[in-house]
Amino acid sequence: MTKDINETGWNFDNSYARLPQTFFTSQNPTPVRAPKITVFNKTLAATLGLNITALDSQDGAAIFAGSKIPDGASPLAQAYAGHQFGHFTMLGDGRAVLLGEQITPQGERFDIQLKGSGRTPYSRGGDGRAALGPMLREYIISEAMHGLGIPTTRSLAVVTTGEEIARESYLPGAILTRVAASHLRVGTFQYAARWGTKEELRELADYAIKRHYPEIQEDENRYLAFLEEVIKRQAMLITKWQLVGFIHGVMNTDNMTISGETIDYGPCAFMDTFDPATVFSSIDREGRYAYGNQPNIGVWNLARLAEALLPLLHDDQEEAVTLAQDKLSDFAQLFETNWLEGMRAKLGLFNEEEQDKPLIKDLLDLMKMHGADYTNTFRALTINKPEETILQETTEFTEWLERWNARRGRQEESKEASIELMRNSNPSVIPRNHRVEEALEAANNGDYSVLEKLLEILSNPYAYSPEQIHYTSLPEPSPRPYRTFCGT
Ligand code: AMP
Ligand code: MG
Repeated sequence: MTKDINETGWNFDNSYARLPQTFFTSQNPTPVRAPKITVFNKTLAATLGLNITALDSQDGAAIFAGSKIPDGASPLAQAYAGHQFGHFTMLGDGRAVLLGEQITPQGERFDIQLKGSGRTPYSRGGDGRAALGPMLREYIISEAMHGLGIPTTRSLAVVTTGEEIARESYLPGAILTRVAASHLRVGTFQYAARWGTKEELRELADYAIKRHYPEIQEDENRYLAFLEEVIKRQAMLITKWQLVGFIHGVMNTDNMTISGETIDYGPCAFMDTFDPATVFSSIDREGRYAYGNQPNIGVWNLARLAEALLPLLHDDQEEAVTLAQDKLSDFAQLFETNWLEGMRAKLGLFNEEEQDKPLIKDLLDLMKMHGADYTNTFRALTINKPEETILQETTEFTEWLERWNARRGRQEESKEASIELMRNSNPSVIPRNHRVEEALEAANNGDYSVLEKLLEILSNPYAYSPEQIHYTSLPEPSPRPYRTFCGT
């Protein structure tokens, strides 16, 4: 199995393939006509222990397109279920295959998945394919999330297939190589609970614990500890989304990972003007996945995980429900604590005061009332240029600034330390919708320089460098709101 390491660096060990057959179907990707690399994440490739020169080639393109299977890979499509907009259904990898798990030189394990790699038994009516635009969009936003310090699946490469796919029009086909701590989802457990045996459910839980929470393996009730740990990680993840204004857009239970990484970048987008009701997804008409609703949906999804785990939590079902509810009820407090801590850091505050929450809320209310940009407001405070926000013209904001400055005076740390904390907590740049669109449009016309530059800027969002300024500007006012799409 180690034979290929020196050549391309692949070093697979496929633990998921050793789970019971219920959890997957062995499935090779469908070869494509003319694979070509468009973006290749060399930094990530190096971390994974891959040989950059060997893979940045026609051979590499064939691998990332699924036309050539690297040694040691054991391609499979994963089975899972999920609640989509509240409705339970069978899903599974309908347009993806897991090539295998790459063991890095540091001994870490990462799923290597091809997305857009052809039909599988879980494809239902779909064509198993993906279009270039959405795959590049996932690449940009997932890498931006990584740059922001938010747990996320990563993007290793996007290749075009040389084939066209039919959507509203014909579009260039593409495949994304997605890298993840694992692709275990809440929906994987729902699938096991609904269609597997209790033993299979237990095997899945033990597998997830070993892979993501090895420290709880010896706990008296390890399945309860597992639920608790996933709740903690998701509470932390969703807090981080809220703090940067990230709207996932399709928080179905199949799109919530067990590892606590952000996954599935279909209709996501960053909020510009602060408003908790913000929704970008064209199909989310009721605002189920609106910015301000993400913590509620998080706990709703975790309740679905808890339900799936019930048979493992206790032999007595009522007792199991009580145990699960007890853990779920911690979510709100965990979120609130994380959020307050994160918001204090955004305002350069080290210590805690009773009145911090109203101080934060009042700023957010002002942003909402006056239609201020969320990221740029914190940016203006960080660089001490309140004149850069439209709030500057209001007396309420002047009063708020006085309160905030007085509050900052009531801590031991220096002004410099406070500014440093703010710089590390408030991104100067985010993947703004119009900048992402501009990069995608150029790429669609064969020019990848705009996208490459955007990726470079987003890799260091806390730099506060002069070259970032261009990326902080807001779009020209548009009569139509920005819209995003799923399943593209
Ligand atoms: P998503 O919206 O990406 O979370 O996908 C929801 C479900 O639809 C998953 O089971 C996907 O595998 C499946 N799916 C999405 N697009 C396609 C496609 N083009 N062909 C087959 N299955 C798809
Ligand atoms: Mg999904």
